[in-house]
Amino acid sequence: MNEPFIQENFNRLPIQMLAKKINVDVIELCKWLRRKGYFEELQPIEMQYIVKQIEKMPIDEIQESLGLSATQFYQIRQRFNLLKKQRYTNEYTEEEVLNKSRWLIEEKMALNIDDLLPKTIRAEHFNKNELYPILKYGELKKKTDPYFKYFSAVAFLVCKAYPNEFKPYQFPHSNVTKQYFTKKNYLRELRWIIENKLGLEEEFLINTSMMNSFLTKKELDLYGLGYHTYKHIFKEKKALIKELVRSCKVMPREKNATTKELRATLFNVGIKTEKCYIDGCTEKNIEIHHIIPKRYRNFVSFNVDDAFNLMPLCENHHISAARINVENLPNQNREIWRELVKKRMEAFL
Ligand SMILES: [Zn+2]
Repeated sequence: MNEPFIQENFNRLPIQMLAKKINVDVIELCKWLRRKGYFEELQPIEMQYIVKQIEKMPIDEIQESLGLSATQFYQIRQRFNLLKKQRYTNEYTEEEVLNKSRWLIEEKMALNIDDLLPKTIRAEHFNKNELYPILKYGELKKKTDPYFKYFSAVAFLVCKAYPNEFKPYQFPHSNVTKQYFTKKNYLRELRWIIENKLGLEEEFLINTSMMNSFLTKKELDLYGLGYHTYKHIFKEKKALIKELVRSCKVMPREKNATTKELRATLFNVGIKTEKCYIDGCTEKNIEIHHIIPKRYRNFVSFNVDDAFNLMPLCENHHISAARINVENLPNQNREIWRELVKKRMEAFL
């Protein structure tokens, strides 16, 4: 803190401007000023900060960042009616839960969103940061999910918070993960990792798979497909690779339809694909959204590339669509899925 400057200008300049002049965060400056005895009263900019943060940050973190004592902060919350009720897991929405998970990862722990994240983030991080109900929410939700039930609550929360970034087996395995890994599932996931994370195309496996450095221990371990995962299926790596190459030749690849094909599918049922499906949105660059995500391809009885499961969305709406809760959709008439998703999205906007 530039103390001489503050002393000279405190009575002359608004706090916001002081903060700008000495290039510190205004909340940080308020904390410092309070500690130095410039004022005791809560400032409006601090009140706004409290209201903004109270739904995502633990109470003692907010209190800490304002430099208040626990008693002071309690009294303030009491006076301005900001006391949080003890909340139960079932009172949280998925949106809130994922926001809190992202807060923990990005703001609190300042972690990068890359393949080291699954190895770093742990249940204890949620617990330590007063996010036990969030973890519990993940635990309850993943249990009823045909795919995620085999993996940990943390894997569920982070995969949902960052759609398409991670596979749940990249996280430390839960005690039932082994049950997921049948030979067929293991090979499918391995093929996904090889192609998407290691950048090795199946076309060239005939060449690459014969190399000693193909699928090293560190690669398999990093992506959760190491020896402990495959030892109940394959005796040794050699056998695994043999089966892998065979599976690529025998099983037709579960081909994802190209965007062009998806567009044609929608066009055939009379849906324009040059326009975002959200009313009033004029964004260009339209993508095709799968309402029930592509990763469920092998768990549902319909084709995820059918028209009723698709909607044209702009890039931004595509991102928010991936966060919409769709788990109860399969009970609804397929022909109204698109409209239901649109309604749910508009409720968030
Ligand atoms: Zn849009």
